[in-house]
Amino acid sequence: MGRPFAAIIKLSEIPEDDADYPNAGFKLEFDFGNTQEDETEAVDFTGRLALGVCPKCSGAVYEDGMRYVCENNTGPNKTCDFKTGKVVLQQEISAEQVQKLLKEGKTDLLANFKSNRTGRGFKAYLALGPDGKIGFEFEAKAPKAEGAAKVPAKKRAGASAATKSAAKPKRASKAKSSSST
Ligand SMILES: [Zn+2]
Repeated sequence: MGRPFAAIIKLSEIPEDDADYPNAGFKLEFDFGNTQEDETEAVDFTGRLALGVCPKCSGAVYEDGMRYVCENNTGPNKTCDFKTGKVVLQQEISAEQVQKLLKEGKTDLLANFKSNRTGRGFKAYLALGPDGKIGFEFEAKAPKAEGAAKVPAKKRAGASAATKSAAKPKRASKAKSSSST
């Protein structure tokens, strides 16, 4: 049996785009009323390969357990808060992608994210904001021409034939020639 202790349980909602907390829409926290550091000892990164430069403090970023973390973001005297999960919304983030993110500011387009809220998968880039915070960046929308081409099937029937043929003489002449043959 554990010792009883007094604490308030806080339920805090985590924004969907918070890459720090990839696996929960909510997190349960014990609030002891004092700020307690979760780590009492700094991680020793000696001999480990740095993945890149921290966008917040220019320290080195390392792989550590289930996260990628800035060397200055461990232990009780941390001076930086840069970190990101190895799995973000069910999308695995490889060390190569973190290297790319730190070097170029953006990962490749990653296809296996899954929204906690809707359960739907989505594609996105992880990208560094100006403040060094990691956020999602979405694929550029399809060019207008492509979007427009999809709509007509429905619209064609209802649209006025007069304005349509006036606006698009090419289609009109095509229709004519094909009907004459
Ligand atoms: Zn840092």
